[in-house]
Amino acid sequence: MITETASRKAQAYYEQAEAMYVSLYGPNFHHGYWPLPDDGTTYEQALDNLTDQIIDRVGAGQGDRVLDLGCGIGGPAIRLARTTGAHVVGVSNVATQIEQATARARTENMAGQVEFEQADALELPFPDESFDAAIAIESLIHMDRAPALSEIARVLRPGGVLAAADFCLNAFVTPERRQVLDRYRALDSLSSFHRLDDFPPMLRDAGLEPVELLDASGHVERSVKMWWERTEADLENLTNHYGKQELSDFIGLFDDVITHGGPEYLIFTARKPRTPRPAPDHA
Ligand code: SAH
Repeated sequence: MITETASRKAQAYYEQAEAMYVSLYGPNFHHGYWPLPDDGTTYEQALDNLTDQIIDRVGAGQGDRVLDLGCGIGGPAIRLARTTGAHVVGVSNVATQIEQATARARTENMAGQVEFEQADALELPFPDESFDAAIAIESLIHMDRAPALSEIARVLRPGGVLAAADFCLNAFVTPERRQVLDRYRALDSLSSFHRLDDFPPMLRDAGLEPVELLDASGHVERSVKMWWERTEADLENLTNHYGKQELSDFIGLFDDVITHGGPEYLIFTARKPRTPRPAPDHA
């Protein structure tokens, strides 16, 4: 099955890349968000800002049950639970991430409010309509969007909101950028890139009504320079872990993204309608 293969590829990628991710991002495996391109926001703050952009949009509160699809090692799920009072269930397809996320929740005294489970996002082990809200921060990038969004719609209750950070294409794709995108896709085990305009119909087909689609590229673009700096600072350790070739592939990709541009960065929210959409009339 295609989806199963994609999930296993992403799984293998994260198992292998975990040390690098912890070195680049700490407990938040995602881009940073800077309110203004050159403000004084530190990288750590920017990483939390991105999570907060999602938390603000999902609008969860005490008593809500929130799904974190593709939870990494738990930074965002724990932050969401702490700041909103909601109960969060994080899923990832990588066992070591679940172990680390669970340990982190315990250390941060949040174990009563956050739980983590190993599962494939395309076959969630939860009943229909069992969540009030869902977040997906840079996890849909690895999945076939259509089945992943349908699965989210299935487990959301009517009226439930999904807030997500994803990649998309919005600006013109030059031949140079096309090469960078292909490389990015191969190196980071990404799924296909979709144009921003394709998201509304894709969401509707999955049973979700688009609420907001924001091209946030300008807010996150400093992240790549941060990866560069962090990688340089931890070069010996990372070279020992990955080998010279693998690491220079990643550094080459960072350079290419800075020079030619990578995918655009999309923050979107969508809502499961309270009453199901009537079946399309194909007559
Ligand atoms: N949202 C987290 C992690 C982002 S990294 C954060 O912001 O920190 C992407 C995450 O998606 C990883 O945890 C990866 O294991 C997970 N993932 C990718 N494909 C998946 C799949 N098919 N099922 C479950 N999790 C998946």
